[in-house]
Amino acid sequence: MKICELFRENRTVFSFEIFPPKKDGSIETVYKTLDELTDLKPDFISVTYGAGGSLPGCSTREIVSIIKEKYHTESIAHLTCVNSTKTDIDRIIEEFKASGIENVLALRGDINPDIEPKKEFLHASELISYMRERSDLSFSGACYPEGHPESGSLNEDIDNLKRKVDAGASHLMSQLFFDNDFFYRFLEKARAKGINVPIEAGIMPCVNAKQIQRMVTMCGASLPHKFTRLIARYGDSPEAMREAGIAYAVDQIIDLAANGVDGIHLYTMNNPYVAKKISESVSRVIR
Ligand code: FAD
Repeated sequence: MKICELFRENRTVFSFEIFPPKKDGSIETVYKTLDELTDLKPDFISVTYGAGGSLPGCSTREIVSIIKEKYHTESIAHLTCVNSTKTDIDRIIEEFKASGIENVLALRGDINPDIEPKKEFLHASELISYMRERSDLSFSGACYPEGHPESGSLNEDIDNLKRKVDAGASHLMSQLFFDNDFFYRFLEKARAKGINVPIEAGIMPCVNAKQIQRMVTMCGASLPHKFTRLIARYGDSPEAMREAGIAYAVDQIIDLAANGVDGIHLYTMNNPYVAKKISESVSRVIR
């Protein structure tokens, strides 16, 4: 099923993101994570893509295919293009077709200062246009409630987002944010620019203070006082931080659902305990 079709019903779509196991992990850990996450009946699960390769049997494509075939849950493969040639993408299209994959989150990817970009695809919109001409895949795109860190302004970034939607992105998934007001402001501007595809809000529960500080440094999300107070108070106590982080994410989700958001995309960080606690707390609110 194409992801955009999930949004035709009048309810809040609820999806998860996972990442393939690290090089020192194993396929068993993926199965264990998926056993628990799919029990929670998300609408779909997305699988991130790392340019550094993967364990044998655990590539993004293979995990996306397992989610669909073994767990009968819809799935979406992240794919970056900054270090790919057109020949690479032609091969990936064939592999996706052979694996029964229908949905792709088309991304540019971050530019690594130590690796010269291939320059055949400069933006995610170019990847979408190229793949769309050569396949029946359905495309999603990333969006940034506080603006992409490289863009001059939020307005400029939204103009570029419109290009991505015009190229064929039929669904958008947002970068994480901790202050819902940024998301509402972004949504209003995006709709005013004629971006009418479903937009899911990206929510990352803060269950580990160091991990969240690393993520925030990378993506530039603002931290409201309410949130920094939690980290200051509970950051050194893993169990208290986990409970406070879950409560904060639940609060964000309830507010977003009450405001009629199209969907919630939960960055699970492969942590089924956290995903379960959050799913249980919001099940009546989002369904
Ligand atoms: P683009 O849409 O190409 O935008 C990048 C920048 O270029 C923006 O500043 C934009 O305003 C500008 N731009 C776009 N089009 C034009 C144009 N035509 N002319 C001029 N400027 C333009 N990274 C990974 O490596 N693996 C993942 O699995 C992954 N998953 C992600 C999932 C989500 C939901 C999000 C939000 C991000 C994810 N990322 C991932 C990170 C992403 O790769 C980076 O944020 C990257 O820097 C930008 O990717 P993009 O697809 O948004 O790029």
